[in-house]
Amino acid sequence: MRKKENPEKAVEYIQAAKRISAFTGAGISVESGIPPFRGENGIWNKYDPRIFDIDFFVQNPKKTWEYIVEIFVSPFKNVKPNDAHFALAKLEENGLLSTVITQNIDNLHQEAGSETVYEFHGNSKNLLCLQCSEISYFTDVDFSYLPPKCKYCKGILKPNFIFFGEGIPQDALQNSMAETIASDVFLVIGTTGEVMPACMIPRLAKENGAKIIEVNTAKTSFTNPVSDVFLRGKATEVMNDLMKRLGL
Ligand code: NAD
Repeated sequence: MRKKENPEKAVEYIQAAKRISAFTGAGISVESGIPPFRGENGIWNKYDPRIFDIDFFVQNPKKTWEYIVEIFVSPFKNVKPNDAHFALAKLEENGLLSTVITQNIDNLHQEAGSETVYEFHGNSKNLLCLQCSEISYFTDVDFSYLPPKCKYCKGILKPNFIFFGEGIPQDALQNSMAETIASDVFLVIGTTGEVMPACMIPRLAKENGAKIIEVNTAKTSFTNPVSDVFLRGKATEVMNDLMKRLGL
C-alpha cells in the first residue's frame, strides 16, 4: 500500500476532528447512473460544452434545451442516491459531519437525507424564469414545446444550475467559504478539481490547516499537493469501508 492510501489514517483524522465537511463532485453520483463530465464516459466527450455558455443559451434557448432534455431531464428522472450519499447523511446524523458542499446539481445528497447541503452550482430540480425570476419545478413544466415557458409571464425558463459565464450563487459561496475555514477535516469525493472557483475549496481548507481525505477512482490535481490521505476506489466501496471502520 502506498503511504497516502491508508484508510486507518483517515479514521484517525475523523475521530480526532472538531468539525468535518465534505466536498463532492460528479464522481459520487456515477454509481447512481449519472455520467461525469470528464474522463471515461464523460459528457464532454460527447457534447460541446459551449452549449452551456449563458450567452449561447440566451441566443439559442431551443437548441440548448434540446441538449438539456437529452443530458439532464431524461437521465436524471429515475436516479437514486447510492451508498456514498447515504454514508455522508449518516455521518451528519451521527454528529460527525457538519456540511456537504457539492458541485453536483442532481439533488441526491438531499434525497439521501443530508440536511446541510450547499450547492455551489445550483440544482437541476427547479427552473428560473429569465424574465420575472419566478421558480418553477421540473415536474410542473411542460417540455413538449422547447424552450419551456414560465406559467406566470411566458418568459423563457432556464434550469436553476449555473451555466458557463454565470457567477456562483452568493449564499452558497459565502456559506461554503465559512464552513471551509471552520473545518479541520475535509472529505473530497469524486471530483477532478478542475472547475474554478469550486476547486479552490479543498485548497483553502488545506491552507487553513485541515486534513484532506480524498476519495476517487483515479489521482486528481488534489492528490499530490493537497490530499493527506488518498483512498483509491469507487465512492460507494470506499465509503462503506470507512463507515465500517468507524463502527457506523
Ligand atoms: P468531473 O466530471 O470533472 O470528474 C469526475 C471525477 O470523479 C473524476 O475525478 C473521476 O476520476 C471521479 N470518479 C468517477 N467515478 C467515480 C466513482 N465511482 N467513485 C469516485 N470517484 C469517481 O467532475 P467534477 O470535478 O465534479 O466537475 C464537473 C462539474 O460538472 C461539476 O462542477 C458539476 O457541477 C457538474 N456535473 C454534475 C453532475 C451531477 O450533478 N451528478 C454530473 C456531471 C457533471
